[in-house]
Amino acid sequence: MQQDAIIIGGGFAGLSAAYILARARRRVTIIDSGTPRNRFAAHSHGVLAHDGKSGGEILAEARAQLAAYPTVTFIEGEALAAEGVIDDFHVRIARQDSIATRRLLLAGGVEDRLPDIPGLKERWGKTVLHCPYCHGYEIGGGPLGVLATHPMSAHQAAVVADWGTVTLFTNGMPEPDEAAFALLERRKVSLQAGLVSAIETGKDNMLRVRLANGRSVEVKALFVGPDLHIRGTIADTLGCALEESAAGKILATDAMKATSIAGVYAAGDIARAFGNITLVSADGVTAGLGLHQSLMFSARS
Ligand SMILES: Cc1cc2nc3c(=O)[nH]c(=O)nc-3n(C[C@H](O)[C@H](O)[C@H](O)COP(=O)(O)OP(=O)(O)OC[C@H]3O[C@@H](n4cnc5c(N)ncnc54)[C@H](O)[C@@H]3O)c2cc1C
Repeated sequence: MQQDAIIIGGGFAGLSAAYILARARRRVTIIDSGTPRNRFAAHSHGVLAHDGKSGGEILAEARAQLAAYPTVTFIEGEALAAEGVIDDFHVRIARQDSIATRRLLLAGGVEDRLPDIPGLKERWGKTVLHCPYCHGYEIGGGPLGVLATHPMSAHQAAVVADWGTVTLFTNGMPEPDEAAFALLERRKVSLQAGLVSAIETGKDNMLRVRLANGRSVEVKALFVGPDLHIRGTIADTLGCALEESAAGKILATDAMKATSIAGVYAAGDIARAFGNITLVSADGVTAGLGLHQSLMFSARS
């Protein structure tokens, strides 16, 4: 049966949108491949009433609540492709033929691409971190590192300085300009020039940041701004316009999270720079409202 909406990606944004559509008694199918961006971290922080729970636990609770709505269908697996026009989209999935839907919500999130430094990837979400607001408090102060990956890294180091004593590893990036340098000085951030060659385990479980010049610096945690990439090719094949953000390319959306393609909405990290669970959940709600109202006020409501 044709769905009112198919949500591609059942993470925090997608499930937040699903509540709105389910409560409006609309037929909604959520397709999810089960790999949310924060799966590498054991705990989620700063989430209203869920501080310290794992992301997986929060999502499982949401799925259980949504399953009680009779118009909601879950499909575990990957949406492989989507095509069509408003009121007549088709989404192809791994284990079934295609499903027809009037509207689409893209909520598949982004992939974090980390610099290719031995020892970095396996510590992602544990002691190699993306955001001090999410995980800085638990470190409990002390020596911290920021690995420069883009022009905003000096700003990131100045921010992280509220959680400890920071060393900014420039790792081949251009030295900060005069204004950034003055900010780093004011925030007591020290600079460590040279390429980083490996991340190792140091004394007392500290991280040892090894430099190509043979020196090493021990820190309790290392913050990194990864390269963010929209997951999959569905947004691209549908022709959704992109916009440049400080965190990389994201889908361009209007105030109700509609993309440039009629009938296609987008919410979450896929359409927001610097998302977190609360922000992307709010975007999911906005998209759910926008999508529902576009159904409501179309000729075939
Ligand atoms: C290591 C780490 C720790 C974090 N910790 C916190 C924290 O403590 N607090 C906080 O507020 N934020 C935290 N964040 C940020 C937060 O995880 C993200 O902002 C949030 O997960 C984005 O939600 P989303 O719904 O946009 O995407 P995601 O949560 O990434 O969910 C997208 C879902 O879509 C699925 N999917 C993708 N493509 C397809 C497809 N083609 N077909 C079917 N399914 C698909 C994926 O499998 C996934 O389940 C953390 C991020 C990272 C990287």
